[in-house]
Amino acid sequence: KTSLVWLRRDLRSLDNPALSKACEISDTVYALYLAAPDTWRQHHMAPIQSDLIRRQLDALRDEFNALNIELLVLNAHDFTGQVETLRHVIQVTSAEAVFANRELEVRESARDNEAQSRIGVPFHLSDDRCVIQPGTLKNGGGQPYKVFTPFSKTWVTELMRLGWDCEPRPHPKVLKPIVPVSLEILTEWPYDTGNSSAWDVGSESVLKALRSFSRERAQLYKKHRDLPAIDGTSKLSAYLAIGALSGRQCVARLVADHGAPDTLNEGARTWLNELIWRDFYQHVMVAWPHVVKGKAFKTNYEAISWHNDPMLFDAWCKGQTGFPIVDAAMRQLNQTGWMHNRLRMIVASFLCKDLLIDWRWGEQYFMSRLIDGDFAANNGGWQWAASTGTDAAPYFRIFNPVTQSQRFDPQGVFIRSYVKELASTDDKRVHLASDGQFYNRAVVDHSEQRKLALATYKTALEAE
Ligand code: FAD
Repeated sequence: KTSLVWLRRDLRSLDNPALSKACEISDTVYALYLAAPDTWRQHHMAPIQSDLIRRQLDALRDEFNALNIELLVLNAHDFTGQVETLRHVIQVTSAEAVFANRELEVRESARDNEAQSRIGVPFHLSDDRCVIQPGTLKNGGGQPYKVFTPFSKTWVTELMRLGWDCEPRPHPKVLKPIVPVSLEILTEWPYDTGNSSAWDVGSESVLKALRSFSRERAQLYKKHRDLPAIDGTSKLSAYLAIGALSGRQCVARLVADHGAPDTLNEGARTWLNELIWRDFYQHVMVAWPHVVKGKAFKTNYEAISWHNDPMLFDAWCKGQTGFPIVDAAMRQLNQTGWMHNRLRMIVASFLCKDLLIDWRWGEQYFMSRLIDGDFAANNGGWQWAASTGTDAAPYFRIFNPVTQSQRFDPQGVFIRSYVKELASTDDKRVHLASDGQFYNRAVVDHSEQRKLALATYKTALEAE
């Protein structure tokens, strides 16, 4: 029997349920990746993330070769083209079944439904995106959770019940299939170029990064995770976003090094909590798909009259707002494709509540720059910052960029590494809104903007 494994955001050869199932029942296995640059552009995929995908596919080609699985990489242009190309590949390879891991976003699911009805061979979907599958956790009223803390408790109970075993490593097939001549194998990557070389690719490197974090830094995670000047977080998000690593692999490693999920030390438990946040936003997206259609989770917050000043937005994007911590963070994003979580919260709050710019503008800008861009996590983070999301905290909790900076970058080490203009300022001044002496003057006055934001939110909510 010949099978096709259609890879999407599951670019790994280990702990890949679709791959394991295909290998189990087939003599011959092809793996297939269908680039969709037109859809990626519509989804604002960052060039750096597409570069990581390209490099990871190159590494996977070798890993699949060792299993006698041929990896075919083709350009399908967009989601419609993916279904058409898939049909063609099935025909020329005489595949009798297609295996894939389920994608949870709205357009991706619609595309899979279409494939299901049009490819003419069985299409088997497995679940791999989350550690605990969406739809399986319900609150006391039988509804999906809107609140994180009770969700996380049930999540841990469910994990203890189900366990955290990963898929066994697939055995090599006896014979390697031959690439049909009529397939136009991709020779040039069809997307804008980015440089993801700071992230190593391939199973071995990814697992090494996981192992070194789990062994050397997880224990101190609670202490270090909010300090952007310290390398205290795992930086595994890019791998999780493209599926070079699964959430389950992270849990399994953490448990192997630190003990069962319900007995972990404080650091490891705090890190597990972040993996639970990752699942939480995926579950929210599946239960309330209106968030994928550009809508606020709390629909009454749609009434906010954002000011949307393009000049202020431009200053924010470029890291030229005159608020050192905001500017350092945005420059980190622009220069490296990654931003520390504490800083993501600060700059997102600043955009929505100090500049009164629609959170969707920030969401899109992040997507276009992040190596770890992931719809559910990004949307969840932005709606959290704009107070339009699942979080119960009231909208009048507004971050003060100066006190956040003093608290989380006390010596200004992080700020100075990206805002070179402040290299010789003292530790007190480095945090303050710029008066124009060292670099551009602050674009707004935080206390004035705070009042304005409160009034704007209040008016919107009273108008309902
Ligand atoms: P660690 O602290 O080591 O955490 C481990 C893993 O847990 C991360 O790799 C990530 O997969 C997951 N995780 C951690 N925090 C969160 C969270 N708050 N929500 C969901 N998952 C989480 N994360 C993305 O992966 N992609 C995004 O596009 C994204 N956009 C964000 C936008 C905003 C406005 C905010 C506030 C947060 C966003 N996050 C996003 C969440 C978080 O900032 C990143 O996951 C984290 O900074 C990645 O670094 P790390 O791998 O070192 O994380």
